[in-house]
Amino acid sequence: MSSVSPIQIPSRLPLLLTHEGVLLPGSTMRTSVDSPRNLQLVRSRLLKGTSLQSTILGVIPNTPDPASDAQDLPPLHRIGTAALAVQVVGSNWPKPHYTLLVTGLCRFQIVQVLKEKPYPVAEVEQLDRLEEFPSTCKTRAELGELSEQFYKYAVQLVDMLDMSVPAVAKLRRLLDSLPREALPDILTAIIRTSDKEKLQILDAVSLEERFKMTIPLLVRQIEGLKLLQKTRKHKQDDEKRVIAIRPMRRVTHIPGTLEDEDEDEDNDDIIMLEKKIRASSMPEQAHRVCVKEMKRLKKMPQSMPEYALTRNYLELMVELPWNKSTTDRLDIRAARVLLDNDHYAMEKLKKRVLEYLAVRQLKSSLKGPILCFVGPPGVGKTSVGRSVAKTLGREFHRIALGGVCDQSDIRGHRRTYVGSMPGRIINGLKTVGVNNPVFLLDEVDKLGKSLQGDPAAALLEVLDPEQNHNFTDHYLNVAFDLSQVLFIATANTTATIPPALLDRMEIIQVPGYTQEEKIEIAHRHLIPKQLEQHGLTPQQIQIPQATTLDIITRYTREAGVRSLDRKFGAICRAVAVKVAEGQHKEAKLERPDATEGEGGREHVLKDTEPESISAATDLALPPEMPILIDFHALKDILGPPMYEMEVSERLSQPGVAIGLAWTPLGGEIMFVEASRMDGEGQLTLTGQLGDVMKESAHLAISWLRSNAKKYHLTNTSGSFDLLDNTDIHLHFPAGAVTKDGPSAGVTIVTCLASLFSGRLVRSDVAMTGEITLRGLVLPVGGMKDKVLAAHRAGLKCVVIPQRNEKDLEEVPGHVRQDLSFITASCLDDVLNAAFDGGFPVKTRPGVLNSKLTCKYKGLDKQKYSVLPPTNSSGWQARRSLFSVKLKATVLNTGQKTSDCHFNTWK
Ligand code: ADP
Repeated sequence: MSSVSPIQIPSRLPLLLTHEGVLLPGSTMRTSVDSPRNLQLVRSRLLKGTSLQSTILGVIPNTPDPASDAQDLPPLHRIGTAALAVQVVGSNWPKPHYTLLVTGLCRFQIVQVLKEKPYPVAEVEQLDRLEEFPSTCKTRAELGELSEQFYKYAVQLVDMLDMSVPAVAKLRRLLDSLPREALPDILTAIIRTSDKEKLQILDAVSLEERFKMTIPLLVRQIEGLKLLQKTRKHKQDDEKRVIAIRPMRRVTHIPGTLEDEDEDEDNDDIIMLEKKIRASSMPEQAHRVCVKEMKRLKKMPQSMPEYALTRNYLELMVELPWNKSTTDRLDIRAARVLLDNDHYAMEKLKKRVLEYLAVRQLKSSLKGPILCFVGPPGVGKTSVGRSVAKTLGREFHRIALGGVCDQSDIRGHRRTYVGSMPGRIINGLKTVGVNNPVFLLDEVDKLGKSLQGDPAAALLEVLDPEQNHNFTDHYLNVAFDLSQVLFIATANTTATIPPALLDRMEIIQVPGYTQEEKIEIAHRHLIPKQLEQHGLTPQQIQIPQATTLDIITRYTREAGVRSLDRKFGAICRAVAVKVAEGQHKEAKLERPDATEGEGGREHVLKDTEPESISAATDLALPPEMPILIDFHALKDILGPPMYEMEVSERLSQPGVAIGLAWTPLGGEIMFVEASRMDGEGQLTLTGQLGDVMKESAHLAISWLRSNAKKYHLTNTSGSFDLLDNTDIHLHFPAGAVTKDGPSAGVTIVTCLASLFSGRLVRSDVAMTGEITLRGLVLPVGGMKDKVLAAHRAGLKCVVIPQRNEKDLEEVPGHVRQDLSFITASCLDDVLNAAFDGGFPVKTRPGVLNSKLTCKYKGLDKQKYSVLPPTNSSGWQARRSLFSVKLKATVLNTGQKTSDCHFNTWK
């Protein structure tokens, strides 16, 4: 046991004046420096000094430093602690100051202050070094006894703490290894003591006195701990326990506090996590990263924000299905049955899906294309995706991409970022718990773009079979193999899918349904599903096909069946109320005795509640089962019809024509209205038109003006200059909906031709096609949806561009049968089809001289002379005759019949 301190301090020391906290030798303290003298001391001694000696200061306790250096030095506390400045941290906010970390070395006393400015320097006398065990035997024995007693108490105190905590174990070792005379200072700094008590210990220069003063403090602390342990036993889960020992973080950590309990639990969790990492079957690289992160985690204090971040990361890593997969059960016949059972129609889609599955059955590691179902909402795209997962026996997960505009949503955030998390792909894998699920990327056409990057670009890597076996999420930062995942995408339109993404996918168009298909879907799938959801049976409700057709035509206007499904839901809810009421009434009717039995009370009730009497009279009439949903019931439940088919009435005046439009929701019929008035030759366009559509209107006017003579078109004053003193207004109803595209060209021409000729356009004809200045009709898109819309609207004849003829093959047979098609290659064809008796009306009865200008196939001015229809009332009959005559007469010119673009599909 050494009695002499090995530390030798300089005889002159700069003085740091403190008034909060007392630094004892052997302990560490953080103190704030903001007064002028102390600031000067830090700047010129600590920040500029280069030797070890310049970092030694005299810390004088209990002495406030004057606020300005002009003031005199206050009386200094006689005894201070020589200290080593370990760390200086500076800050300018809220005012310039430093925070000093100082470790106490030994006591000193001031002999004489040598200078006061800019900071005080004093000649000092080192005290601790002089202290030795007194030489006389008696006092030596006495002191030995005291130190022994002190040591015992210290050991008792430390033993009451949890030895498994490394800081406690270290403290226990320190008790044995440190010289006994150093212990009072160190333990006083650790246990709960006031500044005043510490000052007394500092002032106790004699060792005997120091031991004598610190023993009661130790005993007090031991008693406090005993009390705490007793209460803890009684109230295990009492949250508000007294913290007995101030945790002293730098020198050593004293456990026995609440934090320690949490720490214990955390330690258990960490051990579990470590075991999981060892047991998990992640790839080598990922495993290495986990082990590294685990090492870091163990060293980190729990209060660090990074602790939670690292722990979450490790938990995700062990939860991810690195090697867990489901076994595919692929039976094409069963798949076909399942797809057919779940979905009516959609033949093309089902065929392609089966092909895809068949190839998978033959070659399991197929790096095939990503399927993308494109079609209007509610046509069953998502539902087919779900069926594919079911047929394969795989997990299904839907990732909604609509509105996603941050690429971190796909790829995750980097872990340096606060609140970082993995992207949706990795999250989805964690949710399903296997590495070969079916992922449905819903609404890929509605991906956004923002300053946070392009999510579509991030999807490229995910969807590329060549690259996605080592997809790296920013959060994970290690590659995850996505090659086993089956991706299916859905979209409403391909127009807004970025080309690079589109290139990775095989597009399968899912068109809208015809009325007949909708009726079948409704009766096979939607109605049974709704009945089941509402707890109804077919014995309670009956919806005939005629009612379904009514709902389809008069209450919904959509390409899919989602709205139709909702209408059935509304009907079922209404019927459920009736059925429930009926059951209640029946129950009451079955218990007439019971009501009688309760006699008087029932009477009182009836007297006081007149409404219940009227209800009672109803009791005799429970609703008849099954409840039949006819048109009247429909009106009661769904309200008056929302859509009416008034096509023929609409065309009761010149200047109206019916066009066909395509929208992402399916096809629609569209009325084009025109009117003229006196004016300066202005063209007004209304109905929220896009630039392309406006240009079509200008084209139409120009073409009609240049052909006015040919078609006998005149303005109000009879001039062939159609815009002379005339303004024209063109309107496309449903003004709130933005419209664009070139396909309205032929409709605008027809509408204006009707306006200038004063003749009515046929009410049962709809048309679509782009026009050119020469009067050619060019092909347009969305033909199937447009034809279905015309069929839905009850039209009879559709004029389409000749080059779209091939698209008619996609139209279901029965729709083709109900409609007649006229393929037009030039505007003459369109006008002839749109007006009864052709356009212009052939004046000479008997022979119709139609000049069909077929420039389209490089044929210039071929003349066809055909006989006019004899039966002017029936267009059908006339047209077939027309067709026959045409075939006969074209022989004169040597032109092939197919070049004359009048065709019927009858
Ligand atoms: P989408 O994804 O195309 O918007 P959904 O797949 O969500 O449409 O389909 C909407 C609803 O219509 C689902 O309940 C689905 O079962 C039903 N449905 C759509 N098409 C069919 C079909 N051909 N046969 C049976 N049900 C269908």
